[in-house]
Amino acid sequence: MKNIIIFGAPGSGKGTYSDEIVEKYGMGHISTGDVLRAEIKNGTELGKTAKGYIDNGQLIPDELMIDILAKTYDSLPAGKGVIFDGFPRTIAQAEALKQMLAERKHDMGVMIELVVDEDTLMKRLLNRAIEQGRADDNEETIKKRFAVYHNQTEPLAAWFQKEGIRHTFTWEGSKEQMLANIFAFLDTLK
Ligand code: ATP
Ligand code: MG
Repeated sequence: MKNIIIFGAPGSGKGTYSDEIVEKYGMGHISTGDVLRAEIKNGTELGKTAKGYIDNGQLIPDELMIDILAKTYDSLPAGKGVIFDGFPRTIAQAEALKQMLAERKHDMGVMIELVVDEDTLMKRLLNRAIEQGRADDNEETIKKRFAVYHNQTEPLAAWFQKEGIRHTFTWEGSKEQMLANIFAFLDTLK
């Protein structure tokens, strides 16, 4: 499978669909949010730095993220394709990803954009707060994350459009439908 960049607002289902894609196509998976939460849990220096940003709904600085991403990518088996979940989130990260892959003679593959209305997103995240207890899933921080998404991340959709790899999937009320649409598209790729 080619590389896949899964893109969307907080709560849009990036992690959920990534897991399903990994199960079906057997590729690697990098969730930058999961990497950071593991660092926090292990009490590392990086975790301590990251926690301040995450709890405040802000992005971790680009230089730090780009470094983490490259290290994680190089730790995965080559040649099976990787799904990037939660990265890139800024234009600088997208440029760095493109360059990092080009240096390894790999390419970005395809970008899958998940479009979900904000009321649905808020309901999902508040529900996840009850189920998983993530520190950043409270109403105040969620609103900050939405603002960060609109200001810093959403403009990237146009960047991917220009790269010619943007493929948009819009929530119509069912996970099964969404998944069927995504799989139908991925099945057309080599
Ligand atoms: P969901 O996983 O439901 O889509 P989300 O996108 O808010 O929600 P994560 O991707 O897990 O959640 O990210 C959680 C937090 O980790 C972000 O709010 C941010 O602080 C930090 N983070 C994760 N990825 C990046 C990144 N690429 N650049 C900067 N900060 C990041
Ligand atoms: Mg996630």
